[in-house]
Amino acid sequence: MTNTTTSTTTATDPGTKQFPSGTILGYPRIGPRRELKKALESYWSGRTDAEQLRSAAADLRRSTADRLTRLGLDPVSGAIPGGFSLYDQVLDAAVTLGAVPERLSGVRGPDGGIDLDGYFSLARGNADTAPLEMTKWFDTNYHYLVPELSPDTDIRLGSTAIVDQFREATADGVTTRPVIVGPVTFLLLSKAADDAPSGFRPLDRLGDVVAAYRRLLARLAEAGAEWVQLDEPGLVVDGPNSTAALGAARTAYAELGAAPIGAERPAIFASLQYADAGDAFAVLARTPVEAIGIDLVRGDVPDLTSDVVSGLAGKTVVAGLVDGHNVWRTDLARAAGVLERLAGLVPSVSVSTSTSLFHVPHTLDDEPSLPAALKSWLRFADEKVAEVAVLARGLRDGFDTVRSEIEEATEAGASRERATGVRDGVVRGRLAGLAAGDFERGDYARRRLQQDRRLGLSPLPTTTIGSFPQTAEVRAARGKLRTGELSADEYRDAMRAEIARVVELQHDLGLDVIVHGEPERSDMVQYFAENLDGFATTANGWVQSYGSRCTRPSILWGDVSRPAPMTVPWASYAASLTEKPLKGMLTGPVTILAWSFVRDDQPLGDTARQVALALRDEVADLESAGIPIIQVDEPALRELLPLKAADRPAYLDWSVGAFRLATSGVADATSIHTHLCYSEFGEVIGAIDDLNADVTSIEAARSRMEVLSDLRAEGFSRGIGPGVYDIHSPRVPTTEEITGLIRAALESAPADRLWVNPDCGLKTRGYAETRAALENLVGAAHAVRRTR
Ligand code: GLN
Ligand code: ZN
Repeated sequence: MTNTTTSTTTATDPGTKQFPSGTILGYPRIGPRRELKKALESYWSGRTDAEQLRSAAADLRRSTADRLTRLGLDPVSGAIPGGFSLYDQVLDAAVTLGAVPERLSGVRGPDGGIDLDGYFSLARGNADTAPLEMTKWFDTNYHYLVPELSPDTDIRLGSTAIVDQFREATADGVTTRPVIVGPVTFLLLSKAADDAPSGFRPLDRLGDVVAAYRRLLARLAEAGAEWVQLDEPGLVVDGPNSTAALGAARTAYAELGAAPIGAERPAIFASLQYADAGDAFAVLARTPVEAIGIDLVRGDVPDLTSDVVSGLAGKTVVAGLVDGHNVWRTDLARAAGVLERLAGLVPSVSVSTSTSLFHVPHTLDDEPSLPAALKSWLRFADEKVAEVAVLARGLRDGFDTVRSEIEEATEAGASRERATGVRDGVVRGRLAGLAAGDFERGDYARRRLQQDRRLGLSPLPTTTIGSFPQTAEVRAARGKLRTGELSADEYRDAMRAEIARVVELQHDLGLDVIVHGEPERSDMVQYFAENLDGFATTANGWVQSYGSRCTRPSILWGDVSRPAPMTVPWASYAASLTEKPLKGMLTGPVTILAWSFVRDDQPLGDTARQVALALRDEVADLESAGIPIIQVDEPALRELLPLKAADRPAYLDWSVGAFRLATSGVADATSIHTHLCYSEFGEVIGAIDDLNADVTSIEAARSRMEVLSDLRAEGFSRGIGPGVYDIHSPRVPTTEEITGLIRAALESAPADRLWVNPDCGLKTRGYAETRAALENLVGAAHAVRRTR
């Protein structure tokens, strides 16, 4: 197809500045020592006022610009991205467009605008209204707020905070490149508001959204911005809207690019991230944007047909060669090779990160206890900026000028390959010796019979998902263990006391299957990472998960094995305190991978099977210790689902296989449970049955058991525990409500397969509400039992 829309490019326009030779797509916003988190939380608690929050945020932006300049990004050519957000970049885009759903219109101030408190009400809710929904940002562990649109949503340029931030930097002598979620991705990430007529799709509002962006770009040009970055990762995801999305991109960028550059808009940099650019690259090449970013860590150099190349005249291809989503040092020789090749194919090339850097921690400089060798293989955000600067210098001055940096990186890569622990012969031998039978358990009917006999449970058995509220004392004990204030023995005694308390509470409540409560775990992965070989943990490697929430992902760098049992002593201790069946608790292999930085030197499926084998050993030891039920949690099963449809079957194959490998070594009489928590299972719903667990507990309270009919449609026929208590809110559900949910569940699942449990773990809840809710949960199960 030849180019029918306009291919007139304006980059030759004397007003257009060259795209900077090196840049990053974004930088962590949380602060090296979580300064933003602290500022937000003290504002929310009323300890500081709006002015203090604003100035803390401005300080953070200023120190970021300083740091990026020091690390080698040009402060005056638009190489330093804007892209700061107080809470979330998608929320910022919604507020920029003034797009507030009708149900939340109360957050508008008297002048119709959205002030700081209105902004946080959208993010976190308030006394009257639930916040916007939150969901995963592409295949990452970051969560964004989902804008709600209807045909009536008033869309027009609302907030100009992004312009103000540009001016703020200008005043400091820095010309940034403002960053905002692009119009098409914004609409793809939005959902139809509940009151929208059926058949309405957010993409229907493209015209209004583009008009508002056009106004925003005009304001940015007026403020002196030379470049603006519009993030369009939505264009690379395979989904029901793919074709419509590419059509929308054609329309949107033809329209935005039609405005005269300089006078009415900055030059436009449209960035594709998180996966291969696919068809989106050719589509953007035929629109009048001035630069296109592509992810060359996840994707390949696009097909450069003559048609595409002619569309690229006057445009810069921004090659994302430094991984923004993982922590490994870049193979600079390889990256330089790709840049040289690209430079021979397209008119103009620059280098950048593959995604924003907000998925990785700030700096390795703040990790004194990571082993030096490991550190030499790693790069966090600051060190990645330095890598970009080196490659940019190579592009400008020739790669000979950065020969020593390139060689150093090559040498580090070679030392990583040779290092002890990266490859462990025993682990590899075990993996090579796996047979089909290692992924299979006995016949379900026989398992069922033996487990029923062994456990002797009443119908509709009650249990919890594993964790109980983590008290300040428990967390303080962990802190004291770290500082040496508590000895290992003292710490163990403190945890045992907590376990004893939690077991007693479960007895009081009359729960049928007992858990130990997980007091020893700060999160679902770190505890296992600390106890397995092949992992490292960081001291300050915080990464934003949403809003002010951060996690500290572990780093999986080598072959994984289990030097000693990890959970058996805790589970056995809990079992010794009860006559009732105890459920042991492990995190599954897929979730351990999803919430860690994983090695990039072998297929993910191989890494998953290594973790699975280590867990299989733990499962076997729990079984030998007499634990009758073992739950292996896989809440992140959906999270790693590839963005490209073609990659999904292979993913489901290895992820389900890893779970089965971890859990199939047990006797028929040992019950394997699993737990999943997403209201939307989408494409993984069929895989749930393939996990072959005896009982699956699953989030269901908010969707009122909808998932059960989906599961039934897929032929699922084993034990199921749909959540009947939404643990995401402090609200205590009444016995009647829970009874109603159990009865609703009974319409899709027979009583002899139905379990009664909350939606998820109780770690973040308080004790008062937990006790009351669980009391009602047990009461409801008993009430339904009586009337059957
Ligand atoms: N067993 C874990 C807990 O209860 C499960 C948490 C989760 O699914 N996110 O905390
Ligand atoms: Zn859960």
